[in-house]
Amino acid sequence: MRVERVETFVLKTPLGAERFYSSQAEFPERNSLLVRITTSDGVTGWGEGGQYGPAEPVKTCIDEVLAPQLLAIDDASPGVVWERLYAGIRDFGSKGPYIEAMSALDIALWDVLGKSLGASIATLMGGRSRERVKAYGTGGYYDTLDFDRHRDLARLATVVERYADEGLGMLKMKIGLLPIADDALRVQTVRDVLGDDFVLFADANHAYNASSAIAMGRVLERADFQFFEEPVPPEDRRGYARVREHLDIAIAGGEAEYTRYGFRDLIAGDCVDILQPDICVTGGISEVRNIVALATTNNLRTIPHVWGSGIAVAAALQVCSWLPLVPYTHRPVPVQNEPIIEFDRTRNPLRDDLLSQSFVLQNGYIEVPAGPGLGVEVDMDVLERHCVK
Ligand code: CA
Repeated sequence: MRVERVETFVLKTPLGAERFYSSQAEFPERNSLLVRITTSDGVTGWGEGGQYGPAEPVKTCIDEVLAPQLLAIDDASPGVVWERLYAGIRDFGSKGPYIEAMSALDIALWDVLGKSLGASIATLMGGRSRERVKAYGTGGYYDTLDFDRHRDLARLATVVERYADEGLGMLKMKIGLLPIADDALRVQTVRDVLGDDFVLFADANHAYNASSAIAMGRVLERADFQFFEEPVPPEDRRGYARVREHLDIAIAGGEAEYTRYGFRDLIAGDCVDILQPDICVTGGISEVRNIVALATTNNLRTIPHVWGSGIAVAAALQVCSWLPLVPYTHRPVPVQNEPIIEFDRTRNPLRDDLLSQSFVLQNGYIEVPAGPGLGVEVDMDVLERHCVK
């Protein structure tokens, strides 16, 4: 299989009044970098690179460096290509846009391979352990920098009630922008509104140092949250280990980590209970497979991070279909040992409108497309509408 053409697409969509904040940034728009590869047999495959950083550096890495190399490889199978391309960039690009660019190409090559063989990516990875994956909603962001208890707790309550009405039974809310005492009120509001049976997680986007994270973690434990995501900056491995040592709540992280080498160090540092590789960031499907091998070796769960377009969701669904239970039990329990999928609920037309058939929540689950490759089709009219020329 030889690649004849590689095309990149920078997609952007402004959020207008629906802009929001995490602890780190304002989000006035959503963007995605998509890649389409076409083989000499005329088979096309789609991939996505990066999560929310600027798409242009990833595009440049593909257009100027990786695509010319890919076009010269006779057997463009994903496993062959990954090692070849990584060998060419490891000296100067082992994290960041280069790996995000490799992620996009790798996902597209798996899509092509699946379409060539008439099998879904999960099938090619080793099999479909599940045909549907339990989804957790990501939401409960901040819509203002000025926290007003009366106004903003009521708004938060309205938003999370809507998620429950959609049929979700699991939610990840944002923390870390405000003083711990104010975020504690938000945490308790969400618990009170959704009730004791709702499964809750919290994501600080690395807002804290270790001692603040431990204080916040105790708040989350009192409200019976099940994991605490990115408590400290990704570089602070000792901080991660200290937080994990002092808290009972599971510590999650890894969306800002790259390749098996990065996850090797995260695991060796006793940083996390739950690995969250983003397939569009960490090196694609080929590299997630390697990361999951490390995770299972250490009896750690993997719950992929997903925050991109419909292509990112499709790739994560294929991986989640294949992911093993960690550890195995005869009766799997979502989160406890069975993988779940992140389903961002903030506005993103690139997620909801880009594919010919969008993903639908049914009783809190999303079906894994059974068609070949990623099992999805891109609506080219929608893509053109959001494409930056
Ligand atoms: Ca996160």
